[in-house]
Amino acid sequence: MKEKIPYKIYLTEDEIPTQWYNVRADMKNKPAPLINPATLKPLTAEDLAPIFCDELNKQELDNDTAYFDIPEEIQRFYRMYRPSPLVRAYFLEQALGTPAKIYYKFEGNNTSGSHKLNSSIAQAYYAKQQGLKGVTTETGAGQWGTALSMACSYFGLDCQVYMVKCSYEQKPFRREVMRTYGASVTPSPSMTTEVGRKILSEHPDTTGSLGCAISEAVEAATKQEGYRYVLGSVLNQVLLHQTIIGLEAQKALKKYDIKPDIIIGCAGGGSNLGGLISPFVGEMLRGENDYKIIAVEPASCPSLTRGKFAYDFCDTGMICPLAKMYTLGSQFLPSANHAGGLRFHGMSPILSQLYHDGLFEARSVEQTAVFAAAEQFARVEGTLPAPESSHAIRVAIDEALKCKETGEEKTILFGLTGTGYFDLYAYEQFNNKTMTDVIPSDETIAMALAKLPKVDL
Ligand SMILES: *Cc1c(COP(=O)(O)O)cnc(C)c1O
Repeated sequence: MKEKIPYKIYLTEDEIPTQWYNVRADMKNKPAPLINPATLKPLTAEDLAPIFCDELNKQELDNDTAYFDIPEEIQRFYRMYRPSPLVRAYFLEQALGTPAKIYYKFEGNNTSGSHKLNSSIAQAYYAKQQGLKGVTTETGAGQWGTALSMACSYFGLDCQVYMVKCSYEQKPFRREVMRTYGASVTPSPSMTTEVGRKILSEHPDTTGSLGCAISEAVEAATKQEGYRYVLGSVLNQVLLHQTIIGLEAQKALKKYDIKPDIIIGCAGGGSNLGGLISPFVGEMLRGENDYKIIAVEPASCPSLTRGKFAYDFCDTGMICPLAKMYTLGSQFLPSANHAGGLRFHGMSPILSQLYHDGLFEARSVEQTAVFAAAEQFARVEGTLPAPESSHAIRVAIDEALKCKETGEEKTILFGLTGTGYFDLYAYEQFNNKTMTDVIPSDETIAMALAKLPKVDL
């Protein structure tokens, strides 16, 4: 192998970007505002004050400031695990026999095992700045709860995590990582909140859901003095923090004069995809460059490819604000057999608007094909990928194989968001060939969409 470009392109610590980029500043069509479900009016900083901390509310509502300085304390923390490597997938290229050049930005090099630490450290920082005692949150698979517990322990904040009960039982190791970093982890639904007690009295055997855990975490934040609620995806502020991924990638590529033709990311709530693509989309919006960008979502939860662009609740419990986004309906639940993460019914309002305006395309993939790609990747590139990340791997491989047919030497960049050490139950199903694909019928989706709230602005 002739390797003119190193296997890993690293920035130096001093080259880590010191500002986050707010793509909204360059968008002609701004994302629609969040709406207060009680008044049906756009949410103000005042509405948001009891829920999120003040500085984060400012970031959430700011459609105009293009760059936000990253506070020094956060820059210091970033240096613990950043810059993340931009890897040239020489081994994968060779295995595929493709003329395409494949790069991936690997965000799994920290204990939480994903990109989520990029935002949790920022959210914990602003909570500490405001003099708060602690934060509450929900976690499904556990990556966000882990990332938040790490950030809170760094700043000496109390961290209360409501973990969906079935994950709490199925993923005891994630739970123990969180407790090791000092978080308290409560299986949800629980008896510690009113909404939890109500759900338990109606459904004593329930194993919980993300929507229910959100409701409990929000209640816990608003009922304890000095606490706020934090969220690991979907919100504008989270996408802003995650742009550290794309800004680093952009800088590393420039070092070697590389221009990607295709940029690929997996899409759950949209935070890693938004973070990776924002700087590149900014170039497109300013007319400087053009890229083909592909969002990859699971066929079992296809919000971009089969959802509707409409106002909807962000949670199943229908207590959170309404966001205009591509959604399958807040009452849509992906099939229980779906193992590969990315189960949120909606999509970040920023990404939804960009998708609506044709700045990127979306593709849905079935989980057995995703795990086949994960296995192929692990065997040649060494890293065991998270199932979520493997959605992007699937499409990167598909695009590279297309290049093999056409002989085109395209440059592909994808986001490898994390590692899959805590997803071995899903890998076990794949290895045992008991994993199946469930694709929701048109009727199922239509039924969930029929329950969208009626909002006309
Ligand atoms: C949470 C998570 C995702 C999906 O969340 P987004 O907000 O869509 O980025 C993807 N990959 C990993 C490893 C995750 O932990």
